[in-house]
Amino acid sequence: MQIPLLRLQCGVNSYDWGKVGETSAAARYAATTAASEFSIEAEKPYAELWMGTHPSLPSKDVETQRTLLDLVQDNQALLSPEISERYAARLPFLFKVLSIRKALSIQAHPNKKLAEQLHARDSKNYPDDNHKPEMTIAITPFEGLCGFRPLTEIVHFLQAIKPLRDLIGGTPASEFEKTVQGNENSEDDAVVQRNKDALRVLFTSLMESSPEKIEAASKDLVELAASSSASFGTLPGDVETNPSNPEELASIIQRLNGQFPNDIGLFVFFFLNFIKLEPGEAMFLKADDIHAYVSGDIIECMASSDNVVRAGFTPKFKDVDTLTKMLTYSYAPIEEQKLRPVDYPYTVFNATAYSSASSSLLYDPPIEEFSVVKTDLNRTGAKATFDPIVGPSILICTRGKGTISVGPKTEEVREGNVFFIGADAECVIVNSGSGEGDENVFTTYKAFCELDASLGRANL
Ligand SMILES: [Zn+2]
Repeated sequence: MQIPLLRLQCGVNSYDWGKVGETSAAARYAATTAASEFSIEAEKPYAELWMGTHPSLPSKDVETQRTLLDLVQDNQALLSPEISERYAARLPFLFKVLSIRKALSIQAHPNKKLAEQLHARDSKNYPDDNHKPEMTIAITPFEGLCGFRPLTEIVHFLQAIKPLRDLIGGTPASEFEKTVQGNENSEDDAVVQRNKDALRVLFTSLMESSPEKIEAASKDLVELAASSSASFGTLPGDVETNPSNPEELASIIQRLNGQFPNDIGLFVFFFLNFIKLEPGEAMFLKADDIHAYVSGDIIECMASSDNVVRAGFTPKFKDVDTLTKMLTYSYAPIEEQKLRPVDYPYTVFNATAYSSASSSLLYDPPIEEFSVVKTDLNRTGAKATFDPIVGPSILICTRGKGTISVGPKTEEVREGNVFFIGADAECVIVNSGSGEGDENVFTTYKAFCELDASLGRANL
């Protein structure tokens, strides 16, 4: 039988928001195993490296040039029989690297039921019928917008940022304030529901603003950001608002206006949490969670789908009506949007790995399609053995160099290399780099799916 370790050739797409030329990690990674006709163009944006079986940009086995989709359909044991049956002989997840120079559209992804309806109604804009929960792990410092802010912050901005109130209109703003003020932190279900309803009404009236009004309010907003950044604090009188100071928020408004002049997104900003992630930090977006990515290089893992409902910061099709109806309007502080990794107990280290404080961390969102393990091997000779799992994995190296082995097959690994590992295979990685300290860390991210973890591991 063929050894279930494949070196993959992965495509990169060229959306306008991507980092340009060699500055794009997605492009550099793609170039390490690219087809011979690929070369990085200095002026061209490169946005997303796709690793998986999604038909829009399928990965290929370097050796045979067959698509991974074709290979797993031919040999369903690579996925495990259970996963193959449940996911129609495709990978349950799509793994990506994103290199973000310019904000991505403000968006949400439909839940399964809504995805089916949208796809049936408009298959051009909603290309499949699947939901798309997604997880982001920062590779470089990352900025983004994610989920609705705590209500105290929204109320504060309505009062402190005059162009925002002008755009929404005094009456909707006061009605919102009347409903939520004094109840912002209530945990009573009925009150929370009333708050969410009020937020939906307020947000919808913002999103339905006419282009003329948005243009006028944007000019005032950018002027305010330039002249009076103090009013951009999250709360009255806060100098060190979490996670940014008022000057930083004001300068981001100016930067976003440079990217998308007179865009409704400039105002949506005051409704959403502004989140910063350091390398290794993560967030998870459930179906129907509103978000926008602003800058940075990230690893992203999602259910295998390309369904996006967009509402701002984009030249693409906007579907404001669907977006404002689908959102849950849950509001919470930034810390609750983050996903904290835990030690992954199914990696076995050798002595060199232990003594160099190497680590294997699990990012495990509350869905079945995927989890991700990040492994840092901190010294030459440090070795990690991943227990076999009853499901497929895709591994990418983002730093350093090493080797990867399954059984008797061993491959060299460099930054940007991507591998597919079939179900039930024990996989070993070793740091083969040189140099000291941070210069010699071998970092990999491995996305995988295992339907019933407890069953698979009971035998070990
Ligand atoms: Zn998204």
